[in-house]
Amino acid sequence: MINIIIAGPPGSGKGTLAKIVVEKYNLTHFSTGDMLRQEVENNTPLGQEVACILERGDLVCDDIVIGMITHELEDHPQMTGFLFDGFPRTIVQAKALDKLLKAKESPVNLMILLDLPDKICIERILRRGTIENRSDDTHEYKVQHRLNTYHTVTKPIVEHYKKQGKFIAVDSSKTPEHTFNQVEACLKRIL
Ligand code: AMP
Repeated sequence: MINIIIAGPPGSGKGTLAKIVVEKYNLTHFSTGDMLRQEVENNTPLGQEVACILERGDLVCDDIVIGMITHELEDHPQMTGFLFDGFPRTIVQAKALDKLLKAKESPVNLMILLDLPDKICIERILRRGTIENRSDDTHEYKVQHRLNTYHTVTKPIVEHYKKQGKFIAVDSSKTPEHTFNQVEACLKRIL
């Protein structure tokens, strides 16, 4: 069983890479961003609670996202491995995930950080906002806010996985194939 985390700033291509990796390695894909957007779309009580947080581009509180991932892991006891897309985003979430996976005797194998300059992130996100009509993607100041949160809160979790020797950064400024080739080369070395 292998467990992979994909992290990176908004617009770095986490979702696109995740789709390729889950298919190739037969993993179960958990995207906390997709799960939260689904709650908002279905207008559930949780969706109503988090809608304006997503809209502002702030992080949803740790308890909520950790709770969602805990339930998903309970619902998929027999899987071959998991790909966590956009989770963990804080140190508290990273420690909670370690604990959840320890209970399954199947720790994180690799954290992949998608690296690209902020300027390209902003260009990509604003383009996506127009195409997908995502309200958190349509204003530059909102994208800049998410980038700031990424640099101050999420990027520090790199150290957590670096210390464990489970970290790679890949250049995500070119095509999805270019990004995937770097990831595949690394996975071939460690698996
Ligand atoms: P994403 O699609 O991963 O960019 O996530 C979209 C939005 O969902 C983020 O801007 C946050 O508001 C929220 N979100 C997604 N994942 C998390 C997480 N692990 N912790 C807190 N908030 C999250």
